[in-house]
Amino acid sequence: AKTLRLILGDQLNIQHSWYQEVDDSVRYLMMEMRQETDYVTHHIQKIVGFFLSMRTFAEALKKAGHQMIYLNLDDPENQQNLKELLNILISKEGFERFEYQLPDEYRLDKILKDICEKLPIPSASFDTEHFLTTRDFLKDFFKGKKSYLMETFYREMRKKYNILMDGKEPLTGQWNYDHDNRASLKDKKLLQKALIRPKKVSEIVEILEKSGVKTIGKIDAENYPWPVSRAESLQILEYFCENLLMHFGAYQDALTTWDPYLFHSRLSFSMNTKMISPLEVVQTVEKYWYQHQNTISIAQVEGFIRQIIGWREYMRGIYWAKMPEFSGLNFFGHDNKLPDWFWTGNTKMNCLKQSIGQSLDLAYAHHIQRLMVTGNFALLAGIHPDEVDQWYLGIYIDAIEWVEITNTRGMSQFADGGIVGTKPYVSSANYIKKQGNYCSGCAYDSNKKAGQGACPFNSLYWHFYDRNRDKLEKNPRIGMAYKTWDKMGNKQELLDQAELYLDNLEKL
Ligand code: FAD
Ligand code: SF4
Repeated sequence: AKTLRLILGDQLNIQHSWYQEVDDSVRYLMMEMRQETDYVTHHIQKIVGFFLSMRTFAEALKKAGHQMIYLNLDDPENQQNLKELLNILISKEGFERFEYQLPDEYRLDKILKDICEKLPIPSASFDTEHFLTTRDFLKDFFKGKKSYLMETFYREMRKKYNILMDGKEPLTGQWNYDHDNRASLKDKKLLQKALIRPKKVSEIVEILEKSGVKTIGKIDAENYPWPVSRAESLQILEYFCENLLMHFGAYQDALTTWDPYLFHSRLSFSMNTKMISPLEVVQTVEKYWYQHQNTISIAQVEGFIRQIIGWREYMRGIYWAKMPEFSGLNFFGHDNKLPDWFWTGNTKMNCLKQSIGQSLDLAYAHHIQRLMVTGNFALLAGIHPDEVDQWYLGIYIDAIEWVEITNTRGMSQFADGGIVGTKPYVSSANYIKKQGNYCSGCAYDSNKKAGQGACPFNSLYWHFYDRNRDKLEKNPRIGMAYKTWDKMGNKQELLDQAELYLDNLEKL
């Protein structure tokens, strides 16, 4: 073989043009690396998911006739270091050319560029053929503009890919149904069960244990529930269309102890590893809806499609427009430590106990749990964004930096001062109570603002606004909050209560 082609763990796109023909002069390289298991402490289900998906992918390529080099984590030939391994392979096997697909992470992009500069052979990079836009599309699209409005970008994507469109106009005349997507779930019977067939993963779990890879969270090695192949990813997409889409939008923001997944698709891992593409997900859903318009309203479908061709693609554009500076932004100068109970779920606050507990059990929480429970609390409590990022990057099965950091540091912590969002996502207990049943099972009183048993969100909320007045008051979307605050009679009592909680975050 003359050409060595590298495939990273999140580049499992079997439909890529690389694989359309078998070429005997090409050898593909995949490796499970300590560099990747250790850059942050990951959830065990996340590492297992990546390794198992990589192994399944390598098998599929082999079966199709491609030549593979696959190094398991515990393979004696695995240097755990990409640069060293490449040099060894080049001198041993006499490769004449090195090729790779553009990584989605700034960190890996840099590593690969550095490696290629020093390699003794020529190298080239290729697009991953996954996203709807190139790395720089968003940056160019908003050139000269002060803010990068998601909605503007989203409409461009709808037009560009002709999704839910009627010529140049949005189908039904309305672009966005966000307003219809805010219900709390009142009827348990709407919930559906079961997804893909669970797998046995004890072999990989043992390797991780033997190698001393540090992980967080739980795993049932006999019943692993995540898709690890394109076929399984397509199965959950089909399941989503048939069973969940009809309620997706309506209950997108619901918070409940009844079910951890609600009507969410759980497709993020499949998409982030590129086992399936965002365009095929969206087109499948759109097509399904066209055939079932009598049972599924457009609000459900539009809400789902917006997340993928809107938010997901937008976040990737922001990442490449703003990295590496983005990873150091801390608009509020927050510097508190993340309480230890983020790693155990051991807190009396029921909303956090549920959201964190489920994250540790399943490597999954849905968007509103991430944004309006854990993220909301971290922001109100003034936690350093580095700590918040480390937590999110480790705990979720779908966490890869380009989509984690833009959501966490940007959308959820407003540490970018308003690049991603137009105002901070914060709330008092009121919102959490309205969205579901967390508050009814809580040791704290959601209606109480100060005194024994008062819900911490209530006083921390006003403390956040009060301490950041100079940074937020001029924001036209926030002005009202300060008018309310100024009229409140018990300001000092609330501030004292918040201080007490801030001094005792570990005990909440
Ligand atoms: P669904 O609710 O079924 O949504 C469908 C798809 O839309 C998702 O699979 C996802 O690909 C996309 N999507 C939805 N919201 C977003 C968003 N805000 N940004 C990008 N894509 C979106 N998503 C990740 O993929 N990786 C992360 O590391 C990640 N970290 C997050 C951290 C925070 C603080 C917040 C608030 C959100 C984060 N998200 C992240 C976005 C979102 O919460 C997850 O994509 C979603 O919960 C995944 O579950 P699902 O596939 O069931 O999603
Ligand atoms: Fe969360 Fe407060 Fe409700 Fe308890 S009362 S669940 S802490 S919002």
